[in-house]
Amino acid sequence: MAQSDVDVVVVGAGFAGMYLLHELRKTGFSYRVLEAGDDVGGTWYWNRYPGARCDIATTDYKYTWDPELHEQWQWSEKHAAQPEILRYAQFVAKKHDLYSGIEFKTRVDGAQWNEATKRWNIHTSTGETITCQHYVMATGCLSVPKEPDINGTEKFTGNVYVTGRWPHEGVDFTGKRVAVIGTGSSGIQSIPHIAEQAKELVVFQRTPNFSMPAFNGPPPQDRVERLKADRATYEHEARYSGTGVPLEDSTVSALSVTQEEAFAMLEKAWQKGELLSLGNTFMDSAINRKANDVVAEFMRMKVRSVVKDPEVAELLSPYKHGYGTKRPCMDTGYFETFNKPHVRLVDLNTSPIRSITETGIDFGKESMEFDAIVYATGFDAMTGAIVSANITGKNGVTLKSKWEHGPLTYLGLTSVGFPNLYMITGPGSPSVLSNMMVSIEQHVDWIRDTLVHMRENGFDTIEPTPLAEEGWRVHCTDCADITIFQEANSWYMGANVPGKPRVMFPYIGGVGRYRMACEEVVNKGFLGFELAGSTKKQCNDGLVRQVQPDVDMVLDFISTLNLPAMETMSPTEARAFSEASSAMRPSGPEVGEITDGVLQGADGELQYRLYRPATPGPHPIAVYFHGGGWVFGSHTSDDPLCRDLCAQSNTLIISVNYRHAPEAPFPAAAEDGFAALKWVHANAAELGGIADQIAVAGWSAGGNVAAVTAQMSRDIGGPHLSGQLLLCPVTDGSQQHASHKENGERFILTKSLMEWFWNHYATPEQRKNPQASPLLAASLAGLPPTMLVTCQFDPLRDEGNAYARALMQAGVKVEHVEARGHIHTSITMVDMLPSGAPHRREMARALRGFFLK
Ligand SMILES: Cc1cc2nc3c(=O)[nH]c(=O)nc-3n(C[C@H](O)[C@H](O)[C@H](O)COP(=O)(O)OP(=O)(O)OC[C@H]3O[C@@H](n4cnc5c(N)ncnc54)[C@H](O)[C@@H]3O)c2cc1C
Repeated sequence: MAQSDVDVVVVGAGFAGMYLLHELRKTGFSYRVLEAGDDVGGTWYWNRYPGARCDIATTDYKYTWDPELHEQWQWSEKHAAQPEILRYAQFVAKKHDLYSGIEFKTRVDGAQWNEATKRWNIHTSTGETITCQHYVMATGCLSVPKEPDINGTEKFTGNVYVTGRWPHEGVDFTGKRVAVIGTGSSGIQSIPHIAEQAKELVVFQRTPNFSMPAFNGPPPQDRVERLKADRATYEHEARYSGTGVPLEDSTVSALSVTQEEAFAMLEKAWQKGELLSLGNTFMDSAINRKANDVVAEFMRMKVRSVVKDPEVAELLSPYKHGYGTKRPCMDTGYFETFNKPHVRLVDLNTSPIRSITETGIDFGKESMEFDAIVYATGFDAMTGAIVSANITGKNGVTLKSKWEHGPLTYLGLTSVGFPNLYMITGPGSPSVLSNMMVSIEQHVDWIRDTLVHMRENGFDTIEPTPLAEEGWRVHCTDCADITIFQEANSWYMGANVPGKPRVMFPYIGGVGRYRMACEEVVNKGFLGFELAGSTKKQCNDGLVRQVQPDVDMVLDFISTLNLPAMETMSPTEARAFSEASSAMRPSGPEVGEITDGVLQGADGELQYRLYRPATPGPHPIAVYFHGGGWVFGSHTSDDPLCRDLCAQSNTLIISVNYRHAPEAPFPAAAEDGFAALKWVHANAAELGGIADQIAVAGWSAGGNVAAVTAQMSRDIGGPHLSGQLLLCPVTDGSQQHASHKENGERFILTKSLMEWFWNHYATPEQRKNPQASPLLAASLAGLPPTMLVTCQFDPLRDEGNAYARALMQAGVKVEHVEARGHIHTSITMVDMLPSGAPHRREMARALRGFFLK
């Protein structure tokens, strides 16, 4: 007789539930594992349609927790077919006696949290109510087939099949007229097999999908060799990789090579027949539309090369979504199938289904009779199984209502208001964007370790805090925002199910980065969780990931280079280093014209670079001062940013090479700034600019020069300024603001580098001069309208914030952007960090606005 009160109830006996069961036994928890089906395997139990296969190679799609399995189980193919994967699950279940711990044919219909007892009440289809301390949804991301939203489905009297619920005895389509509705992965895998038997096959397609041949055969020898040589390293690399399969990250932009070169690289990946290789060929195909187009066009070229009828080939070629933004498929003979005379493709965009009838399908202007209809219409992915299990948390709130506008989770594992509820590969975790075996094992390990930690430390409940959950939502959104995934109407975005909220359901920041976040949460004393026991409570509230994801990747990459700190170099060495780094960055957008010249500074000639918009002039002018701590940089060193500002604001940018310290210390830079402004004003017409529409702009030390120049032009009666644009400006030489300490270590501009800059530029006494520290000016009244951008993880953040506040208090019109998750340098990194683009757009808009009368 099974216990009706246990430590843990697990729903689902796919690979997730099976492994969790094993771990619960090992760690001595009492449990019930409930499964709706009558065998183990989950996905591979239900999806028995012809051609069902895994598209991650068997070298990677397998458990790693039992090392004996590597010897005891040999995969026959590179991409295992469903029967073999199901046999594998059954083999593991038998080997570890898991069958004895699972109750089959038992569906969980509902669960309620009982706040008084601090336990869950679980209701099953057998009429039983089980109580438990911890409730784990191992219910799968792709386990609830989507109901087809088509008129008349109930009328059809022929045979109806759903790929995700295929009859166990198989189906013989010989001599039959068959309709397949849907061309996602299941459709693409099954259509060639159905076509082999059917007398007539009509495929109804709403969206063509990218698919590549699996080139199935024996497991890939190179991976087999690597595993044999050093399994531990291989598995470690998989766990910390982007997708759960160890692949070398590409460092090549698709836009940095010719189309011919790009296609040659893609062909190499194609020939491998590995799903992830193609998307991994270029570093930017997931984040840059144009880069993605290169891959998409390669794939379309492949379709054209196979499908003989050009009209059909065109219909089978995706144009409306980028490669990878919907799950790409792997096939065996899919496109070739459309060359067969008895196979027809119907485009639902031009010939929509009007209704399913008793005998067939009415579509477009036609009616056709069929013996069988196959629905390959996909799944209510990621949330379907969790939400349909009717979970009610604290205060009677259901998970369904909480997630009405999109799933809210902390780490994809837990959700506020639902204590002791865990989801395996839930929304907000990498799940379907990964090799799911790696993700499943990581979640099971995390849940096991958490349960053990709670038991050992006298905690009864664990629940994320609202702050942590909201922070995770923001982080997931930040990750999605830098990609082009949100452009597609995919099931990743919930777009395949009518009424489902349109948000990115899986976490797109990568398997390894996700794992590190989970580890960090635990290492910081369960950051963002409240743990409570009968005699104690613990809550380390906070946020696990705040730096913008692309910025974080750059920081991680830089840390692997072990570069010397700049402040350990001489100014000459630092300049050479800075120039070498600049030479490696993308050049930025095209502008109408770039010319170099010299202007009159305070003590001799200074070089300048002029960026002219492509539109007819004359144009308003921004006199721009570069960053580099007054020590390095030049009129060309902020080239990508100047191009970007010029192109986006339709403003003539004149970037000035003011004199540098220590050769020309304070007040040389400030005096040159003001002299340059006067010269530009006097020569505006010849430069193609408008003399009474001039602003100053600058970044970092250049922001300091710009701010000081604005004050000098106000005080000395210099040229009238229409505005000042200050990006992360230095405003206060005291360096006493909290952000110097808070952000002084990890974020490229460090506290000690800033000290090094100041030491070269100005003596402690000089720093008190407003021409070095514009924040210290007696008054800021009368300064021009200002756009000031500060970055959250910049040591200079607080002095920039203070300057913005002081300007506002002085009555100056100020627009202050606080760039969340950014560092001192990130907004200048044009075409490298997509997360900086919205802020640059804002800066350009503000610059344009300065000149509007
Ligand atoms: C056709 C197809 C191909 C795939 N190919 C790949 C691939 O190549 N690579 C990859 O990484 N992943 C692939 N996947 C994803 C696949 O789902 C996972 O790899 C993995 O099998 C999921 O295991 P799981 O245990 O988390 O969930 P599942 O295998 O889905 O198991 C969940 C179980 O929970 C049960 N259940 C759900 N709700 C309830 C309830 N209320 N009460 C009782 N029981 C319930 C279900 O019956 C099911 O058995 C594929 C999925 C599909 C559908």
